[in-house]
Amino acid sequence: MLPRSKPCPCTSGKTYGSCCHPFHKGESDPQDAPTLVRARYAAFALGEIEFLWSTLHPQNADRDRGRDQVLVALRVASNAYRYMGLTLLDARGEAADPDGVARVLYVARIFQRGRDVSFVERAEFLRDGGGMRYVGGKSIDLAKVPGDVAALTLDSSEALLRAT
Ligand SMILES: [Zn+2]
Repeated sequence: MLPRSKPCPCTSGKTYGSCCHPFHKGESDPQDAPTLVRARYAAFALGEIEFLWSTLHPQNADRDRGRDQVLVALRVASNAYRYMGLTLLDARGEAADPDGVARVLYVARIFQRGRDVSFVERAEFLRDGGGMRYVGGKSIDLAKVPGDVAALTLDSSEALLRAT
């Protein structure tokens, strides 16, 4: 258990208690996609796998594998990596999309046994139940991104991620 006074692992700059903790404990539900991206990243860092399962949209491909199998895989991923920080690059809310899809482009900084396995993901979200849920995404190794990653947008990343 991470004390609530410690910095939140989503690297928002806030304390855990005033950032992602209420989401992990089910006291509130992320109401926009960037907030959910942060809460899911912090959940991976902290091993909050029930939260990760509960925020998968019914359309997410992992849902078909069944809860028990997915929880095991989430536990492995949570333990195998070190979560070094999250950078949100671009976001578009559900209101801007005819199908109500919200999109977020972000950099997840992650290390596996000292090796940098950071990636850029263009992720999609839909509202379901009480909040936003993760539908899926396309990702590319951060090392394979040409040029300045900070300049990437949802639009400019589309071709890059289609090629992966
Ligand atoms: Zn947070």
